Amino acid sequence: MTQVRTRFAPSPTGFIHLGNIRSALFPWAYARANNGVFVLRIEDTDIERSSQEAVDVILQSMQWLGLTPDEGPYYQMQRMDRYRQVVAQMLDSGLAYRCYVTPAELDELRERQLAAKQKPRYDGRWRPEPGKTLPSVPDGIAPVIRFRNPQGGTVVWEDKVKGRIEISNDELDDLVIARPADAGEDGIGTPTYNFCVVVDDIDMAITHVIRGDDHVNNTPRQINILRALGAVPPVYAHLPTVLNEQGEKMSKRHGAKPVTQYRDEGFLADAVVNYLARLGWSHGDDEIFSREQLLQWFNLDHLGKSAGQFDEAKLRWVNSQHIKAADAARLTPLVIEQLQRRGANVAADAAWLEPAINLFKDRCATTVELAEWLEMLARPVEPSAQDLEDHVTPAVLPAIESLAKRLPDVSWDKAGIATAIKQTLGEFGLKMPQLATAVRVLVCGRPQTPSVDAVLALFECNIVVARLQKAKK
Ligand code: GLU
Repeated sequence: MTQVRTRFAPSPTGFIHLGNIRSALFPWAYARANNGVFVLRIEDTDIERSSQEAVDVILQSMQWLGLTPDEGPYYQMQRMDRYRQVVAQMLDSGLAYRCYVTPAELDELRERQLAAKQKPRYDGRWRPEPGKTLPSVPDGIAPVIRFRNPQGGTVVWEDKVKGRIEISNDELDDLVIARPADAGEDGIGTPTYNFCVVVDDIDMAITHVIRGDDHVNNTPRQINILRALGAVPPVYAHLPTVLNEQGEKMSKRHGAKPVTQYRDEGFLADAVVNYLARLGWSHGDDEIFSREQLLQWFNLDHLGKSAGQFDEAKLRWVNSQHIKAADAARLTPLVIEQLQRRGANVAADAAWLEPAINLFKDRCATTVELAEWLEMLARPVEPSAQDLEDHVTPAVLPAIESLAKRLPDVSWDKAGIATAIKQTLGEFGLKMPQLATAVRVLVCGRPQTPSVDAVLALFECNIVVARLQKAKK
């Protein structure tokens, strides 16, 4: 059996967003699920719009999400000689020909066809045919090179998403595969996009092309060139578009964020992979799955046919489920990084890290939220004046003072702390929320937390006592 080889072929124009990177996820998953090879190819031939920064965001995003290519990145701009070489071979073998039609002639042709209610298409006037006399080559016109598209018959493929697609060859005119040559370009100008893709897919031995359905119109042309070059067309799967929350095509212009921003905002790579996989593929009703499960289950038979709509609230929910399920040890480096971003430096072996992560993770949608909780353990807190006024009232101050005296003598764990709090309540005739809220404001810098005894047990006793004692001043 031939080895599965898939590719992701992004154009580095603008920062890659979640909608684009989904076109990396599926070919990656398919290659991994089938012991195949996943190739990365950067389609950077649009020199004006391509940028190194955009390439960097693609590479960082793929690395973050663990969509690691086995081969590449290949850069199309570095393969220009190869494309020209194939154009030259096609000219030699009669698969392509020079066309000297001028832009003015093309305009005139177009107008004539539109006036006759025909679809505008090149009329093949420079296409060599047996017995046909071609126009005489005009002076001073650099020719384009066109592919001799087959005439008659149809191009058919079984698309893994869209089903059988059949296009009549009469719909396809002779595609320009190289632009007019500039002086010094040896008669062959810059090869065109659709042509480079074909040469690459052949040279890279791609067996499955899984890409956005904005390319579906290119496919019949690409299949014809592939066949002319003696290659067997790959399997195609054209993924439906990803829409944003307003129902428009997801795009940077419509506010889509670069993929790496989700990393910075505290999303887990596995959660984003899970969410994106569900946006266009399904395994029964499973909503939450691990990377391993995805790779066990992934196939091209359950790709969705309709456009997926991005929903940040759902992504947050998926993330919260992954955070809940994650071991504290896995979350630790991510939380430390988020704490550092907030200016709080924490040693990786700080004793409170794991128990604190375990206590708070169930209520957090992102590691940023987790870091917000853990900040109180990492550095001094500054309760707001309002919270102090509302909760640390003269009525509870004596109880706080007494609790601060009692705590150093208890066994420093949840049960010991709970007993000390209960004794203090009894002594001062207070209700739990009165004392507990004041303690929270002073120690944690906020009036609400999980169970106060469990939270205090995360701190060292002397820190709790010092924060309580501050209330007097
Ligand atoms: N470079 C194209 C894009 O970013 C993808 C081409 C392909 O997958 O064939 O839309």
